[in-house]
Amino acid sequence: MNIAVIGTGYVGLVSGSCFASWGNKVSCVDKDTRKIDGLNCGLLPIYEPGLEALVKQNQAGGRLTFTTDLVAAVQDADIVFITVGTPTRAEQGDADLSFVYAAARDIAPLLKFGAVVVTKSTVPVGTGDVVARIIASARPPGTFAVASNPEFLREGSAIDDFFSPDRVVIGAESELSRRALLALYEPMASANVRILVTKRRTAELIKYASNAFLATKIMFINELADLCEKVGTDIEELAIGVGLDKRIGSAFLKAGPGYGGSCFPKDTLALLRTAQDHGVALRIVEETVAANAARKRRMGLKVLEALGGEGNGKTVAVLGLTFKAGTDDMREAPSIQLIETLQRFGIHIRAYDPVGIPNAAGMLRDVVFCEDPYACVQDADATVVVTDWESISELSLERMRHLMRSPILVDLRNAFLHSDAAAAGFQVTSIGHSIPAPAEPERHSVVTLVQPVHRSRSEDVRQAGTAGR
Ligand code: NAD
Repeated sequence: MNIAVIGTGYVGLVSGSCFASWGNKVSCVDKDTRKIDGLNCGLLPIYEPGLEALVKQNQAGGRLTFTTDLVAAVQDADIVFITVGTPTRAEQGDADLSFVYAAARDIAPLLKFGAVVVTKSTVPVGTGDVVARIIASARPPGTFAVASNPEFLREGSAIDDFFSPDRVVIGAESELSRRALLALYEPMASANVRILVTKRRTAELIKYASNAFLATKIMFINELADLCEKVGTDIEELAIGVGLDKRIGSAFLKAGPGYGGSCFPKDTLALLRTAQDHGVALRIVEETVAANAARKRRMGLKVLEALGGEGNGKTVAVLGLTFKAGTDDMREAPSIQLIETLQRFGIHIRAYDPVGIPNAAGMLRDVVFCEDPYACVQDADATVVVTDWESISELSLERMRHLMRSPILVDLRNAFLHSDAAAAGFQVTSIGHSIPAPAEPERHSVVTLVQPVHRSRSEDVRQAGTAGR
């Protein structure tokens, strides 16, 4: 099939490359000339494990091209995916659909007879109807179709998620779009992936409902972590005990500093706005949004408390900046609010992240960025772990302790075992652990009990409750 992908960001680049590796001829379009020039020179605009190899392999095979030339990309396309951004509109809180509608207007006169336009961007229910009307103003009825195919990939594991999804959702109103998308996803159907065909509006809403549920699950465990801190229990043990119930499941039960990323914050807000517009109360989602905002605000105060309530002139080392491990995405990252809060208290910030510094440098002021985590913690009055990259959780606690001015560790991801950090001489503040830490023998007996279901740390990172999308 010939496929055009409009918008070459996280979703467009990953899905375009994956469609190409099934043998389709894919042309990825973007308005950002620098991005396209870079891709044509072999430079990826984002960090995503495995993506560079996939892009290069498909480019070399002649199946994947990058262009700013919309006409060339769209005129022969059987399917045109719209994968442009749908950010939150600052004042209104709803999704800004101007990029989606602009893309629809741009492609409308270029579509070939029988082309199917598919929104893969996350869009509020009913957007497909508007896209169809926009295209209908330039094309005769019956010569095109509009479908929805929401994307569920997670940054950091996007390629695995794309090739092995829990489900593919196709929202189709016509036989033309249903047949085209089922043919495209045939490799997945053959691999026994569940393909769910729904009405277009249902597909649009499934995406928001899924993200709102996951955000709620994260905030549920985060609030339970607060309770654990007060009642002498351990959040990890609690999460394992709860997650072993098949009706609940263990994913997204990892407590942390609150969710961030490009999806959960904006999608929960957009869903609330849709509900409001239709006079429906989504109180659970409202509480989730409010609890997450409050939690992110509180994290800076947690660090200040660990410093004894006085921050002026002190230095804090921040380990991890991106909204979760495995990505360079800084959108809505908890590190941003944390750093800004600490700076308001006169605290100097040094920060390390294995891949996030270029993006973070454009968003944060007066931060000393360090390429090396040990250099980052040198002479710090406290170290805060905000993202649980392996390159952070594998650091030597003893070495860190010796380099720092004061032995204060605030571990907002529980990247280190509380007991290990305490044994290395740290005063530890973590998430969901009472102080003092639970006695060693209890930890061991529980870990032994759960060994058959306990995941590896890297799997934990992929499924991290605070991961977001
Ligand atoms: P992004 O900001 O990384 O990329 C969007 C790209 O679209 C940009 O490169 C921009 O230059 C380009 N663009 C905008 N208007 C254009 C136009 N008219 N023609 C050509 N290019 C245009 O966004 P993203 O993170 O890939 O997200 C895209 C959509 O997918 C959003 O709706 C998002 O909610 C959804 N989504 C994102 C993820 C994720 O993990 N990032 C996962 C699932 C769904």
